[in-house]
Amino acid sequence: MRHFSKDENKRAVWLRRLSEAKRSKETVETRFWTKVKKTKTCWIWQAGKVPFGYGSFSRKPGPTLLAHRFSYTLVHGTIPKGLCVLHKCDVPSCVRPSHLFLGTKAENNVDRDRKGRRRSLRGEEHGWSVLREVDVRRAKTLRDGGMSFPKIGEALGFEWKTLWAALSGKSWKHVRL
Ligand SMILES: [Zn+2]
Repeated sequence: MRHFSKDENKRAVWLRRLSEAKRSKETVETRFWTKVKKTKTCWIWQAGKVPFGYGSFSRKPGPTLLAHRFSYTLVHGTIPKGLCVLHKCDVPSCVRPSHLFLGTKAENNVDRDRKGRRRSLRGEEHGWSVLREVDVRRAKTLRDGGMSFPKIGEALGFEWKTLWAALSGKSWKHVRL
């Protein structure tokens, strides 16, 4: 039987820990990406959602995180304290790192207000009251990425027929897509 010196033992333990840590990181990352559907434009989170349509990812072990924030850290590293991860593409469930950028909380709120709560006086008064201009734009982005209407409906939380009607119909013609 071989006897390790104290130092050799330490080194063996350290190496084992390192490889375990690496493996568990890979597992978490791998699991994360299995929940993402990549279209030509956006990469859509398919698992749990929180209000405002953001994806939620439970790390196991570890806390549940917002999916787009986790994706940002995988590619760009730590998010500086107090900063938010914003979407260039207006699709809250998108986790494509190149569509994400950092902003302050105030910027995030302004952004969300501008994108989400802006009212269109036409489309929204024409019987499409559940659908907002921003949703039509999001749907168009996803459609351009090759996503099917049922999947878009799932991603944005609307009946696919409603979205289909909006993209192909009359009520939203004024929205420059
Ligand atoms: Zn996107």
